[in-house]
Amino acid sequence: MAMYPNVQETKELIKELVSIPSPTGFTSKVIQFAEEYLTKLQVETKRNRKGGLIATIPGANTNEHRMLTAHVDTLGAMVKEVKSNGRLKLDLIGGFRYNSIEGEYCEIHTSNGKVYTGTILMRQTSVHVYKDAGKAERNQENMEVRIDAEVTNAEEIRALGIEVGDFVSFDPRVEITDNGFIKSRHLDDKASVAILLQLIKRLKEENVQLPYTTHFLISNNEEIGYGGNSNITPETVEYLAVDMGAMGDGQSTDEYTVSICVKDASGPYHYGLRKRLVELAENNSIEYKLDIYPYYGSDASAAIKSGHDIVHGLIGPGIDSSHAFERTHEKSLINTEKLVYHYVLSDMISY
Ligand SMILES: [Zn+2]
Repeated sequence: MAMYPNVQETKELIKELVSIPSPTGFTSKVIQFAEEYLTKLQVETKRNRKGGLIATIPGANTNEHRMLTAHVDTLGAMVKEVKSNGRLKLDLIGGFRYNSIEGEYCEIHTSNGKVYTGTILMRQTSVHVYKDAGKAERNQENMEVRIDAEVTNAEEIRALGIEVGDFVSFDPRVEITDNGFIKSRHLDDKASVAILLQLIKRLKEENVQLPYTTHFLISNNEEIGYGGNSNITPETVEYLAVDMGAMGDGQSTDEYTVSICVKDASGPYHYGLRKRLVELAENNSIEYKLDIYPYYGSDASAAIKSGHDIVHGLIGPGIDSSHAFERTHEKSLINTEKLVYHYVLSDMISY
């Protein structure tokens, strides 16, 4: 039997996931990847109409269900305008700032399936030409995509098949260091997707009987707010989102522990479930941090907001510099993997 958590395997899986472009609205390839991964494990899956993926493992109790989610959609952009100067204007998908993509390599995905590469730059990048290159605001007006093609005007761009509405993905620049770090764009939330896929793999390998029928939703619209707010069975009592822990000044979350979110912009998470998660961590030597994420919502809060009567929770690996040049450490992945494992085997809370 394979060792669990096999963090080397988890890191490799994260690397594969972040390398598949999947800005919100353009997730079918990465969903297909998850589908194939689960099909190989002989786990039954189905897709919802929004393009998310649901895997269900029947449990001893089929009257009360659990749901766990992680999202595969990421930040990205769309072509807003084919400019007369031979460049592209962008419109951002998800919540981040233009300065976090300055200088980034990108891919433009045309509607007929072609992919062009490019670089996201300030119009006024060249210090040999622009005196105020450093001062100009990083915004939609001033930033553009330089396409790696010989184009000087809008007609030439259109001749390539590039048009308004084409998705633009950012180079993840994924790197695994030999001292346990993984740095990449889109660790939010592909690190957690890898953790859930690994969990399902372990459950299948160990042939574990789960106490409750458990659904795993790989959601694909989290970054734009509505996330995993549908396809929740009426039997679902507990709903746990696995999503990144937010780090910064005053935050207790770090790259080495599992972050248990007590409150975010949507309000407090379910008190009873939060206390159960802490208890599971303490009983199983799992290092954790409690934290509040000030500007944050999750698949679980989206589900609550859409009217589902569920007990909701949020945990995840600590991710540094989220929505920009992200990084985490394998210790955080291991602690999160352990907590989700003990969680799916635990009794439900009485609410
Ligand atoms: Zn996220």
